[in-house]
Amino acid sequence: MIAFAPFMPSQEHRNLAGAVIDSLEFAREGRRQAGQVAVRDLARLADQLVDFSGALAWCLQGERTRDGEHLLHLNVEGDLGLRCQRCLGALRFQLQVVSTLRLIKPGATWPEDDLEDDSADAVDAEREMALLPLIEEEVLLALPIAPRHERCSPPAPADKEQEPSPFAVLAKLKK
Ligand SMILES: [Zn+2]
Repeated sequence: MIAFAPFMPSQEHRNLAGAVIDSLEFAREGRRQAGQVAVRDLARLADQLVDFSGALAWCLQGERTRDGEHLLHLNVEGDLGLRCQRCLGALRFQLQVVSTLRLIKPGATWPEDDLEDDSADAVDAEREMALLPLIEEEVLLALPIAPRHERCSPPAPADKEQEPSPFAVLAKLKK
């Protein structure tokens, strides 16, 4: 286990577009990078968000284990405004990504136990691994599949008795 120092406010790499690491070297030398990424830069999240303000703090730590494995530990945290799938309103979500990626060298055999091994996801050990897609992917995996408020605030109908049932509305449409 690697102990992470607490996230520091805005460090290098405020703009992650185009930022790459040599993944194997990063792991071998136990390098560490941290920074912030603007929520609006995470384009693949756009469909699921109602709030594009703010930033997520991230920290990437390389590790070469005694067994010779090359690992990347990625932490991402922050607050996201997801779209509730029931009422379409904003749902605050406290993101906390803690993931480990196992680098697979070019030509090395892909581990067969990858599907069962939840502790680390195998990824290609790219020489130019782009940080933004890496962070984006791990954030996406950490989001709830169907985010919903535990209790949606009612859409404020004056009188619930008079609200037509969805089936009645549907029947009307079919006519
Ligand atoms: Zn809701």
